[in-house]
Amino acid sequence: MKKEAPNSKALNDVAYVCPQCGSANISTDRESSVLQTDAVEGIASCHNCGWTDKTTKLAAVTLGNPFGGKEQTLDAFASDVLTTTTKECILPIGQLLIRWGFIDGKKIDQRQFSRYIAAIAQATVQAIVETRRGIASHAKEKPNAAARK
Ligand SMILES: [Zn+2]
Repeated sequence: MKKEAPNSKALNDVAYVCPQCGSANISTDRESSVLQTDAVEGIASCHNCGWTDKTTKLAAVTLGNPFGGKEQTLDAFASDVLTTTTKECILPIGQLLIRWGFIDGKKIDQRQFSRYIAAIAQATVQAIVETRRGIASHAKEKPNAAARK
């Protein structure tokens, strides 16, 4: 079954978010980054509001070519964020999640914890990319600093 893939190259700089609440805290039933769900047919669900549907129903957010438009670069970045989050932040994030009751500190569910970590990394990637895009578009609107008074 070949799914219609409308110019998939153009989708490279698109991230997918929940169509209901706009959260990037999405997971799919595949081992795939939310950043590349255009290539994946599956079921996605939102951890923020509980929305669940096909990945094709996700809302696309254009990332605006922040890293030169290379999907691999974005993937590498996302992977680096996940590695860094896992390596450097797993303890404080774990303590935070336990403190606020998101996970049970007496009996830590590793799968749940991993989902939180992955979601945090994904959201971080999106936040950085969106911020970068905002900075870039702001610079475009005001190409010379003369606009500043
Ligand atoms: Zn949602």
